[in-house]
Amino acid sequence: MEKVAILGSTGSIGVSTLDVLARHPSQYEIFALTANRSIDVLFDQVMAHAPRYAVLRDESSASQLRQRLKEAGSDTEVLEGEQGLCEVASQAETVMAAIVGAAGLMPTLAAVKAGGKVLLANKESLVMAGRLFMQAVEEHGATLLPIDSEHNAIFQCMPGIDRRGLGAQGVRRILLTGSGGPFRQRPLDSLAAVTPDEACAHPNWSMGRKISVDSATMMNKGLELIEACWLFHCPPQKIEVVVHPQSVIHSMVEYVDGSVLAQMGQPDMRTPIAHALAWPGRMESGVATLDLIMQARLDFEAPDEQRFPCLRLAREAAEAGGVASAVLNAANEVAVEAFLAESLPFTAIPRVLESVMECFENVEPTSLDDVKAADRLARERAAALIPEYKRD
Ligand code: NDP
Repeated sequence: MEKVAILGSTGSIGVSTLDVLARHPSQYEIFALTANRSIDVLFDQVMAHAPRYAVLRDESSASQLRQRLKEAGSDTEVLEGEQGLCEVASQAETVMAAIVGAAGLMPTLAAVKAGGKVLLANKESLVMAGRLFMQAVEEHGATLLPIDSEHNAIFQCMPGIDRRGLGAQGVRRILLTGSGGPFRQRPLDSLAAVTPDEACAHPNWSMGRKISVDSATMMNKGLELIEACWLFHCPPQKIEVVVHPQSVIHSMVEYVDGSVLAQMGQPDMRTPIAHALAWPGRMESGVATLDLIMQARLDFEAPDEQRFPCLRLAREAAEAGGVASAVLNAANEVAVEAFLAESLPFTAIPRVLESVMECFENVEPTSLDDVKAADRLARERAAALIPEYKRD
């Protein structure tokens, strides 16, 4: 039985992972489940799956869960904080890294350093510390498998990951597809007034609120572009973003002979999750068959950078290298949180990011401390800007 830890088990990816694992009870043992503060959901998950460990980031939530599990007669041990997350991440054979945001970096790195199989949903780890992260993957011999549907699609369309770059595999470029989110066609002058619920109502995918807002600004595609550069050892110029509203093609790879390979399927994260869990084999995921006759058509268009300035900012950060993408990610987390709390208009998100990026001195990080320092400073600067844009 393969021992699996799910970091962020109470979230959208976490719940989908549990769904896939539950279809194969004889192959996988659920070793650890973790959350930030969702005690009730984690309690139910622990009672259903009886993991060896449960971890809550928040310490007072951890002591409440410990008490409730004891009363319910559970043997699961409750750990807490970043240390608890890192501990379970380094003991499991397979780790689903599905914590949202920068909080996922250290636990995901702990999994990498243990040299096991790391299923990477937490794109922020690579966006923040791509070079250091990929060095750790190599140094510790970890098997890194992409969960983001686009990266998983690219991975499936390539013969493997080659650190010499795309050219060594005969690949000309990567076509990174994105749906364009809920505001692809909404009148530009109405965007300033959109609500968090409207931004989170994605036309095709059901996801957590942070990534849903990132999809609405297309920052998600920008973060994915940066993630793809690190995962597939390629420069940003070799990646073209293509808007594909139906989300049936999850990305494509074009070879030098003109062949274009696409991976298709329902917009359901259980497909990439099952692919990565079973890799290099295949297993049932519970995802419905793709009915192409019903689907009838597939559309493609270029992304509109006036509507989606975050995409341009992410490309600029990818080209700049250094701590630029860590700064962008941190400022984006602060701006999205403020938007979700109704303290910042939707259209001010890219304006906050641009202001933070403009006044940042870019350096190449030589350690995680450099990355964390850039992340901290960017958060402070973004937070200081929020009230200014709120008044506009
Ligand atoms: P959710 O918001 O649904 O879930 C996030 C999970 O992380 C929850 O378990 C949450 O716990 C936990 N968490 C949040 N903050 C912290 C923290 N500070 N410390 C420890 N744990 C924390 O997110 P998603 O599942 O949508 O996304 C997870 C990751 O996967 C993101 O990086 C996202 O970009 C990526 N991803 C998601 C996709 C999707 O379809 N959802 C697709 C591709 C990538 P709690 O419940 O207590 O808040």
